[in-house]
Amino acid sequence: MKIASETLDFILEVSKSSAPREFAGMLQSEDEVITNVIIVPGTESSDENAVMQLFMLPNIHTVGTVHSHPGANRRPSPEDLELFDKKGRVHIIVGEPYDKKSWTCYNSKGEPILLEVVDYEFKEEETDL
Ligand code: ZN
Repeated sequence: MKIASETLDFILEVSKSSAPREFAGMLQSEDEVITNVIIVPGTESSDENAVMQLFMLPNIHTVGTVHSHPGANRRPSPEDLELFDKKGRVHIIVGEPYDKKSWTCYNSKGEPILLEVVDYEFKEEETDL
């Protein structure tokens, strides 16, 4: 599994602009590359609440989850681990200061895994010229 650099940039931007509130989202992929994030609306100020919002989403097609932490600690909480086990196989936690080094990817068991960042060519929307 890989992630498009633009998608990662988007995640970091949203995490930063949401802080100290947390943001949570679902990850979608094309050909094993994560290219899209569905943001969960109304994510609340505590970790448990952001994660609970993810739990309550219907089973839409997703490869995993992403959420931010208000501090620099990116270790999954017990609630996070329960979520990882149930919703997909790739899980990103972003922490302060929300830059290119302040995120960690976990598998469904909560073990850190390597998520390669790649340049992905997004399909342009058709325009009428
Ligand atoms: Zn968490």
